Amino acid sequence: MATDNDDGDRDEGDADANATPDDPDRERGCDHEVLETLLAGNRRHVDSLPDDYFRDVRTGQHPGVVAICCSDSRVPHEHMWGFDHPGAVFTPSNIGNQVWDEDGGERIVDGGILYPIHHTETAVAAVVGHTGCGAVTAAYRVATGGDVPGPQGVDKWVEMLVPVVEEALERGAVDADADEETVVNRLVEYNVDRQVQFLRDAADVPDDISVYGFVYDFQRIYGDADGRAYLVNVDGETDPAAIRECVPDGYETAVVSLLP
Ligand SMILES: [Zn+2]
Repeated sequence: MATDNDDGDRDEGDADANATPDDPDRERGCDHEVLETLLAGNRRHVDSLPDDYFRDVRTGQHPGVVAICCSDSRVPHEHMWGFDHPGAVFTPSNIGNQVWDEDGGERIVDGGILYPIHHTETAVAAVVGHTGCGAVTAAYRVATGGDVPGPQGVDKWVEMLVPVVEEALERGAVDADADEETVVNRLVEYNVDRQVQFLRDAADVPDDISVYGFVYDFQRIYGDADGRAYLVNVDGETDPAAIRECVPDGYETAVVSLLP
């Protein structure tokens, strides 16, 4: 989700690709410019693929990783890991990279994560938050007296994040007096930690599944490198010094935490 103040960043030269439901010139289903963008893009995709692109996965898949991300348009789910082949990573996403869902009042692990763990021998789960998350921003505003953004389908996911934000504020994990950008980015990391812990504690996630927590940074909050995924949690361990002990040589700088 984009935050409110992202609207000014839109590329005006590509206005039709950003058509909104309120645009009076937009004909429902008949926006040929957007369809042209999509169909032409897919044609380029088809033309670019080597004949053997799907050879190893045409009839089955065994991705090593399931990485749940926010559905934010600025988070490139496969490309952030450099994957250029199919079948490498499951990419479930939702508002606020939440690993849980609610079913009949019961909090359960999202099926997008459980399916690969139980049915394709996937042994690693990653929770990927991102800087400037609109979902976390919305939950923070609700937790501090604001309204839910609406409509109902959005509110459900924002409201599931509100207790996470409230817990972070109660524990003093974030400085509530700081500016909203600072508060939100710390809450993003706190949320990643809570999501990792939920997976660790869930009966449906076997103990031998590794769970990693990352924050994808496209705002140069953690460091200067655009698009870097910072490792903030390894199976519940959040101490950067301890995490650096288990990363491969040369990747210590990918371990950063904003939390005290
Ligand atoms: Zn987000």
